[in-house]
Amino acid sequence: MRIITNPEQGRHDPPFEIIDGRLTPYHETPRRVAIITEALAAAGWPAPETPRSFGTAPLLAVHDADYLAYLESAYPAWVAAGHPPEAVVPCNFLLPGLRAGSRSPQGLAGRYTFDLSAPIVAGTFAAARASADAALTGAALLLEGERAAYALCRPPGHHAARALAGGYCYLNNAALAAHYLATADHRRQTTDDRPQTTDDQPSPVWAMQPATVAILDIDFHHGNGTQAIFYERSDVFFVSLHGDPEREYPYFLGFADERGTRAGEGYNLNLPLPAGVDDSGYLPVLDSALAALASYSPRYLVVSAGLDTFGGDPLGDFALTTACYARIGAQIAQLGLPTLFVQEGGYALDDLGRNVASLLRGFEQA
Ligand SMILES: [Zn+2]
Repeated sequence: MRIITNPEQGRHDPPFEIIDGRLTPYHETPRRVAIITEALAAAGWPAPETPRSFGTAPLLAVHDADYLAYLESAYPAWVAAGHPPEAVVPCNFLLPGLRAGSRSPQGLAGRYTFDLSAPIVAGTFAAARASADAALTGAALLLEGERAAYALCRPPGHHAARALAGGYCYLNNAALAAHYLATADHRRQTTDDRPQTTDDQPSPVWAMQPATVAILDIDFHHGNGTQAIFYERSDVFFVSLHGDPEREYPYFLGFADERGTRAGEGYNLNLPLPAGVDDSGYLPVLDSALAALASYSPRYLVVSAGLDTFGGDPLGDFALTTACYARIGAQIAQLGLPTLFVQEGGYALDDLGRNVASLLRGFEQA
């Protein structure tokens, strides 16, 4: 399995976040990449590759241009306006009934962010682009015939929507990879009856046809951003197992009755789970998710691989073991699809590396 990561990702290193009303050291630390890289090296994998540079076109296919411009300019504009240099953090949010007029650094932060866990520092945009390039490189490798790749992304991506940052996420790495795969596949299918598309437009949709790409999100938290990006599309099927939003972040999406809309109706499947789920409770639900996924006959699989389902994770309430990740990897491998693993969450730093190694080894050895 090819492994991709970029040292530039380390430039995103916010000093703090606010969780449960408390100022807390930032859980999504650059150390996560070093921890995972060391564990994979110890388990015998070769050193990671540096990603290719994809420029802005693939980003604009998934994210709005004004949002990308904001991410790039937010920190210098914030500092120039005299705000504290630690990080860009909104003080209020653009909610229904309010107006989006303010172009001030605080106004823009509240417009393009949905929580207090996505501070922007000097290196955030460069790191997010480097992380996106890692995912896109993994997608390109699948198109070139690789069976599997692992994009060791950070910052992660699955909470980021077209024009919203939140939950440690700025650019949606998994969505970028999925869209890249879906549109490349459309272009290739000159002999079948699917409509043609380009990278610059949302894919046209056609009801109840096989999805080109499936995204399996196994992060503890619902991938609200990924769901939102593909919610009206039938070329990308999204399925997620996660802590029930009735009790867990992101609270406002991830319920079982969210099935997609318009042409995307039926192409979104949420499987919210109760607190304390252990290996024996989780694996049968994963089986049902994979069966649903297989019924759409996708050509490629993108796995939003969060490891915060681990029993010792500070941000989750599941009870999965290290050994369970090998079984998850093996079950995913049974699909027989070209598969891209994209790193999402996972904050139990003492166990994160071996949990990732377990997942990837389980996949490879299946
Ligand atoms: Zn998570």
